[in-house]
Amino acid sequence: MTVLLPKYTVTVAAGGWVQPVEGVTASGTYHAAGSAWQMCGWHTGDDYPAPIGTIVHAAAAGTVVHASWGGDAGGTGPAYGNQIIIDHGGQVRSYYAHLSAIAIQVGATVTAGQVIGAVGETGNAFGPHLHFEVTLGTSSMPSCSQFTDPVAYVKAHAGTAATGTALSAALVAAARSQLGVAYSYGGGTLTGPSAGIDGRTGWDCSSFARYVWYTATAGKITIPRTTTEQVASLPVASGAMQPGDLIEFWIDGSWSHVGVYIGAGQMIHAPNPARTVSVDSLSSGYYTALKQTVRRPR
Ligand SMILES: [Zn+2]
Repeated sequence: MTVLLPKYTVTVAAGGWVQPVEGVTASGTYHAAGSAWQMCGWHTGDDYPAPIGTIVHAAAAGTVVHASWGGDAGGTGPAYGNQIIIDHGGQVRSYYAHLSAIAIQVGATVTAGQVIGAVGETGNAFGPHLHFEVTLGTSSMPSCSQFTDPVAYVKAHAGTAATGTALSAALVAAARSQLGVAYSYGGGTLTGPSAGIDGRTGWDCSSFARYVWYTATAGKITIPRTTTEQVASLPVASGAMQPGDLIEFWIDGSWSHVGVYIGAGQMIHAPNPARTVSVDSLSSGYYTALKQTVRRPR
């Protein structure tokens, strides 16, 4: 099975875990009893309800050990439908079931947040959702005692956010990772470029800034979606500007453009439909003539 999905990754500190579906609250039904769950008589994972095609992310770095119909060798049975299993080392595995699409192959090394597939309702599923499990133990075919609450596990092992100069470096690295990606008004999610109103896969200025902060802080800081809302973040005196800070520009009567400062008088931003994500100098050209303000989210 092949599927067109954006190829991108998020950077999370070593060992850090992220939620497998962005912006969706799990059902909280881990360990709920019910005859529908034949294996143990209770729900061995938790469910993330989302439309078919919603992107599924690797919850942590690891190696893909299964990526096909759940009943194949190494899978956990046809009830799981199209399934991915990732081995994270240390006897920890994560399971992603009922997928409509699989975008990764067995043997692949994945990073936390990497796109691995899409939500579906294959196998025994009542409506589209991701069924997500985490097991602790040596057996490749988990027994009931090996399951753990997956949402609690992700929260307990969330990526650690860097601070100070390490955070600045992570912010600049996240910004640099997107150089050359298209501009697309309305495009861009917390974890990667997406189709905007023109259909192109890319970023607008504020979704790019939001991605940079979300990625560099391993999901700890989610800034607002729009430049106007972003200006409400912590103000910084211009002389105290650090790499990673947001520079906002006043255009046509509002704070309507934002870039990420990268040091040495330069910023990286998603400028406009005619250009891709680029490095620009703050001291030349169009931007220097505009009123500016600096913000540092927290
Ligand atoms: Zn489930």
